[in-house]
Amino acid sequence: MTFSSNRLSALRDIMQQTGATLTALAPGAHMHWVLGYHPHPDERATYLLVGPAEAVMVVPSVNAQDIAARVDLPLHVWTDEDGPAAALASALKAVLPGGTVRLSLDETMRADAALLLIDHLGNAARGFATETVGALRMRKDDTEFNALKAAALVADKAMKAGFAALRPGLTERQVAEAIRGGFAQQNTPSAFCLVASGPNGAYPHHSTGDRVIQSGDAIVIDIGGTTGGFPSDMTRIAIVGHAPEGYDEVHAIVERAVQAAMAAARPGVVAKSVDKAARDVIAQAGYGEYFVHRTGHGLGLEVHEPPYLTATSETVLQEGMVFSIEPGIYIPGRFGIRLEEIVILRADGPEILSSLPRDAFVAT
Ligand code: ZN
Ligand code: ZN
Repeated sequence: MTFSSNRLSALRDIMQQTGATLTALAPGAHMHWVLGYHPHPDERATYLLVGPAEAVMVVPSVNAQDIAARVDLPLHVWTDEDGPAAALASALKAVLPGGTVRLSLDETMRADAALLLIDHLGNAARGFATETVGALRMRKDDTEFNALKAAALVADKAMKAGFAALRPGLTERQVAEAIRGGFAQQNTPSAFCLVASGPNGAYPHHSTGDRVIQSGDAIVIDIGGTTGGFPSDMTRIAIVGHAPEGYDEVHAIVERAVQAAMAAARPGVVAKSVDKAARDVIAQAGYGEYFVHRTGHGLGLEVHEPPYLTATSETVLQEGMVFSIEPGIYIPGRFGIRLEEIVILRADGPEILSSLPRDAFVAT
């Protein structure tokens, strides 16, 4: 279990830096990052509790055997008859050093489990595990990078499957089906598949529907799958027949915004300066009001995770962080353009994971 023990000690270091004396995690991405595994999340309260010296789990008896085979930590087991309160109390006694408690709570924990824990702790100071586990998760190790890179290359092929299927007369849904097939051929479940054609492209999160694709459409295609437990996320544009009026100019602006963000992203800069680099290009071209979302988000065990590249984020970018750069321009009633790359930040700047060009694909 070196994987989890390294990460447990990294967690203890950051708990010390942030003043947390107890990290409480539920089955989900934070727990998965620490243990390399997480039990099925459901209504039965399950906690990983990490104190300054001890770490234990509170688990329902139905899952105890399975968890014991995977996790080398003391388990405090509760039964359906008794409920979790007594097991939680004994687990807290085992991990808490005494004195003031400052809780670092998994922000995705179910409210019932979170309140049970908080009731046991009385007046503990509270923060979220975004400051502890979340901060550690932002920087990826080589294993994580390789998994994310493999996932990105799978998405490239799925995107190409969508391009190959594209022709006038198909619905958005049918194009999405072709993309899902492209993922499935590579043993990758499709996690999301947004196909926004023509004027629908002006909705950044359009729900793929039954609109029939026509010649002269620009189509925003934003897709992601899960390969070996890691997500992909990419956006490209396809043109059917000929581009709509004004398209080429706007595509060139979004491309320049991508490149400006790439040039601004360096270890040591704050995330908002990368957002500003992209936003300034679009604003100076006169389209500022049509760039209606943040420039990017982190990607790791989850498809959206810190760091978030917003206009206000003070997060300092570091080598090894993986995040999207995805500026867009959305013109109501006409079309939308978003170009999305996932990058890992290296010492000299971002390295793009995808190998697919950002030029619009033209289907005839
Ligand atoms: Zn994204
Ligand atoms: Zn996306």
